[in-house]
Amino acid sequence: MKVTALTFGELKKWITEELGMKPYGAQQLFTWIHLRRVTSFHQMTDISLSARNRLDQVSEITSLDTCDTITADDGTVKYSFKLDDDEVIESVLIPDPPRLTACISTQAGCRFGCTFCQTGRGGFRRDLATDEIIAQLYGLQNSTDDRISNVVFMGMGEPLDNFPALRDALSIISDDRGICIGARKITVSTVGIPGGIEKLMQLDGQYGLAVSLHSAVESTRRKLVPVSRILPLRELKRDLMDYVSRKGRRITLEYCLIAGINDSAEEADALAEFADDIECKINLLVYNPVEGVPYKRPNMETVNRFMHRLYPRCQAVTLRRSRGSDIAAACGQLGPAARGTSSN
Ligand code: SF4
Repeated sequence: MKVTALTFGELKKWITEELGMKPYGAQQLFTWIHLRRVTSFHQMTDISLSARNRLDQVSEITSLDTCDTITADDGTVKYSFKLDDDEVIESVLIPDPPRLTACISTQAGCRFGCTFCQTGRGGFRRDLATDEIIAQLYGLQNSTDDRISNVVFMGMGEPLDNFPALRDALSIISDDRGICIGARKITVSTVGIPGGIEKLMQLDGQYGLAVSLHSAVESTRRKLVPVSRILPLRELKRDLMDYVSRKGRRITLEYCLIAGINDSAEEADALAEFADDIECKINLLVYNPVEGVPYKRPNMETVNRFMHRLYPRCQAVTLRRSRGSDIAAACGQLGPAARGTSSN
């Protein structure tokens, strides 16, 4: 049994029903794994020796070894982790005092093939299991003395395409018996896949939602985000409005400006109209070049013109600093060729 993957409720059920341990053992075990982040049952000194031996025989605690670490000029650190089957995934730690944000991957590769994204270009290899998602976060936390304050699921893969593992990881990460990062400090980023946002809104926590929009013109978006052919803008917007009203939380629209593709006045007007009746903020980002992709960064004059075109109708617009672009750890850069991180 991979105990790192068990939510508190699952852990309690397993140790009482399968191992005959007392229910309070679940709290001890959960705290050792998820708060103290030990990697051996034998370090769990308040659990009896016989119980520790039994746990050691029938289960394991997942930890991941880093196979590469690169630090950017701005302090962003990209980690590569090797999985048991030799897949390599990437995660990023982004210092922005007082915040320290961990950007986590949910899949090795991605099946959605967004045309600007390094991860998408490498194709899909497999979903990550819950314990692999959790072990990434603990690998990052163990590498620093500062406490990770925020988690964004914006690394490799489409989180809502691996929903069961994401759901359990969210439960474990936000559990106050463990690493305890509150739901409001966790953001799930998606390109918008059919049924995905609906599933996320069924969960209890008020998780942040960021949507990789990149164009509010259907034909442009289809070029950039091919899955939008089966979830057109009208349906995506309905899902977003439902999320806002169900969760009472403003969402984020991510918009990566690409020269000559989605940076025109018409595109700005379409974005303003799309965002008009959604409680949201718009994060503009300037495209980070990906090797082998013909897209280019717009110049700052175009970026400023686009931003000012939005202002009369959308007040909550920010131009996001791209972090870690010199080490291929910025948005859209994670993936096999760059050996940096991706994505949503
Ligand atoms: Fe996949 Fe996200 Fe990259 Fe699109 S942007 S290919 S959904 S990882």
